[in-house]
Amino acid sequence: MMVLAIGAHAGDMDLTCGAVLAQHVLNHDEVALVHLTPGEKGHPSMPVAEYAAQKREEAQAFARDIGAQVRFLDYRDAELPVNGRVVDEVADIIRELRPSIVVTHWKNSIHPDHANAHQITEQALFYASLKTYERTQPSHFVPYVYYTDNWEDSSGFDPEVFVEIQPDAYERWLQGVSRYAYARGETTRFPFIAYYNALMVVRGAPRGFPMAQAFMVPEGDLHKRLSLLGS
Ligand SMILES: [Zn+2]
Repeated sequence: MMVLAIGAHAGDMDLTCGAVLAQHVLNHDEVALVHLTPGEKGHPSMPVAEYAAQKREEAQAFARDIGAQVRFLDYRDAELPVNGRVVDEVADIIRELRPSIVVTHWKNSIHPDHANAHQITEQALFYASLKTYERTQPSHFVPYVYYTDNWEDSSGFDPEVFVEIQPDAYERWLQGVSRYAYARGETTRFPFIAYYNALMVVRGAPRGFPMAQAFMVPEGDLHKRLSLLGS
């Protein structure tokens, strides 16, 4: 099975669903991360080009630590467009990797790049599945789509799916996200690792798990088709 996580900035998917991705690797699934931009404009003093190179290295280290592959598209932080070119690029990756599962941002965010990444992914899923939309790779339908639990994307985020995090996946996640300077708190005062660590406890405890990462699913995915109520 292939799991594909598509994020606006290097670090978004790593923090919000990285422990689940690590768990899939430990379950012998293939995992790929696609970062649409490096997220290179978040450093208070380092030149943007220099920080972009550092973010790429950090993202590669995270992927190595959890056992995933990683790719980057060539877009700039805070300038991520929603257009046919980027949708085609993401749809082509979906056709090439043929994932069973795609994970991306929830639709609402205080960061426009995150909301755009959601729209790009939704459109790419549609065009990847459209047989008559001819590209070099054959079409591919992704049966499972999930949206991640990101502090910047919390408006209207009410998760339905909770995945228990096992200790070995947690350790890989912690090692991997600690590669990111911003996650360690070196660029802003937001305590990323402590926040997502605590969130795993908060999401897990009411469901009887020591730790969990939470997801929403597309509207309609939880609909039940019944012949009678209660069946
Ligand atoms: Zn981001």
